[in-house]
Amino acid sequence: MKKALLFAALLASSLYGFSQKQYLQCGAILDMETGRLQPGVTLVVEGNEIRELLKGYQSGTDSDAVVDLKDYTVLPGLIDMHVHIESESSPQSYIKRLTMNPADIAYEAAVYAERTLMAGFTTVRDLGGSGVNIALRKAVDKGLVPGPRIYTAGKSIATTGGHADPTNGRRLDEMGNPGPGEGVVNSPEDGRQAVRQRYKEGSDVIKITATGGVLSVAKNGQNPQFTIEEIRAITETAKDYGMLTAAHAHGDEGMQRAIKGGIRTIEHGTLMSEETMALMKEYGVYMVPTISAGKEAARLADVPGYFPEVVAIKAREIGPQIQNTFSRAYKKGVPIAFGTDAGVFKHGTNAQEFGYMVEAGMPAVEALQAATLTNASLLGMGQRLGQLKAGFLADIIAVPGNPLEDVGTLMDVRFVMKDGRIFKQ
Ligand SMILES: [Zn+2]
Repeated sequence: MKKALLFAALLASSLYGFSQKQYLQCGAILDMETGRLQPGVTLVVEGNEIRELLKGYQSGTDSDAVVDLKDYTVLPGLIDMHVHIESESSPQSYIKRLTMNPADIAYEAAVYAERTLMAGFTTVRDLGGSGVNIALRKAVDKGLVPGPRIYTAGKSIATTGGHADPTNGRRLDEMGNPGPGEGVVNSPEDGRQAVRQRYKEGSDVIKITATGGVLSVAKNGQNPQFTIEEIRAITETAKDYGMLTAAHAHGDEGMQRAIKGGIRTIEHGTLMSEETMALMKEYGVYMVPTISAGKEAARLADVPGYFPEVVAIKAREIGPQIQNTFSRAYKKGVPIAFGTDAGVFKHGTNAQEFGYMVEAGMPAVEALQAATLTNASLLGMGQRLGQLKAGFLADIIAVPGNPLEDVGTLMDVRFVMKDGRIFKQ
């Protein structure tokens, strides 16, 4: 019995270093609540939690480990509320959908997950893929694959021919008529069924495509695609099952229906009117801007042959508008969360979004608070993630510069700890 316990303890310590405390000596830490830097702090990590914050540089006892981060600014792990962890845009994206098996997708997804984690994003909300995203979350949770904590939508929910209808653009004999099981709904009843199916499959989040989108092989990138009754049926059912809700939306009418229908976050929000901004505030709905994706889609539209022409037209028209809309929404006081749509651009470069947000008029500290405090609380993890405080999970990153003066330093993350385990040093 004793031997078995000793073996278990040794195994745990070799895997996680859990038998000792880790003393992280930080040049400065960023207090997310006050938005101020505190110089010379030691974070004490035990197991997967931050135990205490000590003034100055402390190193515990001989059996404790010391991590020297004295030349760095230390922050809580970043959270991205909008990624597609299974895929990454390429000229082959459309053909890959028809040729890749789930196992092929899984191997690629594992690479994207690791890149995301190494870039300092220790938590992501995945807003739609094939279902491999659910398997990936399980593998990460088990410690089999290095990756961020994942909250995933599994498959997105669309209407027939809508932005996330998986058979858009196919040959007629292959188009078929997918139903709620595949995430395609055409009535409130279908909507309820689709949510319950997602729950059964293991999704954490419900994502709907409230309007047309840029990258789908379909003409319209902004038309409303759900009735408000369908949206209500979906959000009410999601609430019953304790699931978050997010709506992709470029066009204004679809956005208004999503807000009034009970959706919690509006993704992109490209053509948001002043009236809709007021509605966002009234209903307490968050905008997840994804400026990076808009800029990248517009850039790729001019690369010959990258997108099908029907997509390129939409990318040129819609992509460049997001940053300006974000700027107006921010100034109007619309609640803002941080999200990038990584996958539309390269995984691991998520932090460029901070630069775009600052360029649009949001102070760096508020952009960072969106990516930590706000996102953690939207995920229902406001007491566990997004801050460097005793009792919080030990998701900790370090950058060489002062991110309040230069958000560019967030593209250069040198140290990553997730759940008390060091992944990059
Ligand atoms: Zn997306």
